[in-house]
Amino acid sequence: MDRTLEDRVAAAVRSWGRWVPRWRPGESRARTRPCRLCLGSPLLGQAGLDADVPHAVGHALATRLKRITDSEVAVYTDRNLPTLAAELNRAEDRARRSYRPQEGLDPEFEGLPLDPDPEPDAPFLFTLAGLAQESTRELPPPAPLSEEAKAALRTEIRLADECGQHAVALIGRALVSHRPEISATLDRYVEPQIQALLADLQRELDVPPLPGS
Ligand SMILES: [Zn+2]
Repeated sequence: MDRTLEDRVAAAVRSWGRWVPRWRPGESRARTRPCRLCLGSPLLGQAGLDADVPHAVGHALATRLKRITDSEVAVYTDRNLPTLAAELNRAEDRARRSYRPQEGLDPEFEGLPLDPDPEPDAPFLFTLAGLAQESTRELPPPAPLSEEAKAALRTEIRLADECGQHAVALIGRALVSHRPEISATLDRYVEPQIQALLADLQRELDVPPLPGS
């Protein structure tokens, strides 16, 4: 299971390529807020998915690539950053005892809003995000950290962040060789659907309304 980073990037691009043919425009809800994962993502830029590509299409690759970065950082943290690893285990333990609807989703749904946008005159009885928040609130607060542990934690968080940036740089480099494949997938499955949508729109605008309608 010790595959190279290049292998994992190739696998992520292949997995995305198998998903794209199932994408349909207009199926994913419009976002009210910009996506933190995709907005200005250097990796989407390197993959050629930043300009004029529907958000859901780019997002599905961005989440797959983020899993690679996350696992690089997790392995590095486990091996080299004991304070941060202990803190994360503690947080993980707490989280295990609460409701986490955002976990275990397929990559194309990861990071997207859990609930539909509220409508002012029709409030929801409950939302998934609300349930998750309440189940966390029921747990007792974690024990406070010593000053020494806090300082160690700050240093280790910085190192983990550097590890993440390094992984992103390596993934970006590995992505370059997949650009032709990514662009061919867009041309084959995404572009025709966008063209069809535009043609429909054009037709609607051109046709004068029927008398009496
Ligand atoms: Zn996104």
